[in-house]
Amino acid sequence: MSNVLGMKCRECGENYPIAPVHVCELCFGALELQYDLEAIATKVSRETILAGPKSMWRYKELLPIDGEPTVGLNCGYTPLLKADRLGRVLGLNNLYIKNDSVNHPTLSFKDRVVSVALTKAIEFGYKTVACASTGNLANSVAAHSAAAGLESYIFIPSDLEQGKILASLVYGTNVLAVSGNYDEVNRLCAEAGDKYGWAFVNINLRPFYGDGSKTFGYEIAEQLGWKAPDHVVVPCAGGSLVSKIYKGLNEFHKIGLIDSVPTKMYAAQATGCNPITSMITSGSEVMRPVKPNTIAKSIAIGNPADGYFAAETVRRSGGAAADVTDPEIIEGIRLLGRTEGIFTETAGGVTIAVTQKLAQEGHFGKDDIVVIAITGNGLKTQEAVADHMGRPTFIQANLSSLDTALRAEKLIATTAG
Ligand SMILES: *Cc1c(COP(=O)(O)O)cnc(C)c1O
Ligand SMILES: [Zn+2]
Repeated sequence: MSNVLGMKCRECGENYPIAPVHVCELCFGALELQYDLEAIATKVSRETILAGPKSMWRYKELLPIDGEPTVGLNCGYTPLLKADRLGRVLGLNNLYIKNDSVNHPTLSFKDRVVSVALTKAIEFGYKTVACASTGNLANSVAAHSAAAGLESYIFIPSDLEQGKILASLVYGTNVLAVSGNYDEVNRLCAEAGDKYGWAFVNINLRPFYGDGSKTFGYEIAEQLGWKAPDHVVVPCAGGSLVSKIYKGLNEFHKIGLIDSVPTKMYAAQATGCNPITSMITSGSEVMRPVKPNTIAKSIAIGNPADGYFAAETVRRSGGAAADVTDPEIIEGIRLLGRTEGIFTETAGGVTIAVTQKLAQEGHFGKDDIVVIAITGNGLKTQEAVADHMGRPTFIQANLSSLDTALRAEKLIATTAG
């Protein structure tokens, strides 16, 4: 049985039983799952987790499912790597990359949220699932529903990157490319959910979907040797991930797996779509929706569902926020590539460039443990950077052509022999 007590409205505190609903009937506040952490503490220890599967399901007791997981069994447990070469550029001695660009099976952190949401959709008895997506969620819902034998309807803005469109179509799903931005897609989906009765993973199943992101935080703490980092920099779209990482770290503390949570959370966005970061940097209590205009399409949500909550989490933790321009995003992608050998998508470029900016602003001590959340894979957003990577050196298949090219391009300082 699940360790979930029920759901509670974040705004007015009204309690709700577990059901596929996401907003409070009284005040339209978002519903948040409540866990029986005392019961969990008696069942879960470092040893039980270490004995679990090498996937996000090693934290099953902390996830909102009743039975065994049925979707996304190989998802999560992605590498946390010490990024010394990038750290030298940023002046940080303990910099880490949590690399969900290699998450299984669709190469973004969205596989975590979808694994929980679809396991729950099956528990609720749904046969048809759907989502409103900026791309990565589309890929993940399409792949996981194919593998689970569920019918799926994927709603995306029609101007998404080719890689993200193809990486949904390949799974034989129904892709609906809507002329409009994500916020318009999302509005349509809210209406479609009411009309067709589908399980929209990020609408009516949003409380369950969101808690899949807690595993990103659990893994960071476990992989640091049962310790919360000093700082985590997180790209924000709907604003869920940043809060759920923090929720995950605090749950680990409450059940006795880590000593304390000194962690400060940082929100990263593109300047061309910055409703969350601008709310934080301006010290405003009001989130002003924006019309997105950035190459970072995966995080281009102008009116984020969890925007207030994200800003509140950042402030409560003592963190900060920053946004970066499209040229800075491209430079961020290249910086991560040439220092750490990781090709991230535009959202990752945002996060690297924002981390650099925050470091320059003096937010981090040079020996602090800083974790950068890399959430998606660069092979999906090639057109965003295609004209900025240089060209191969074209040569004939003989040594003299090679030699001429090496000298002309100064690719070698001296030739041997
Ligand atoms: C969806 C997404 C995010 C942000 O997630 P939210 O929980 O909606 O804030 C970050 N990075 C990538 C690559 C994403 O696809
Ligand atoms: Zn309420």
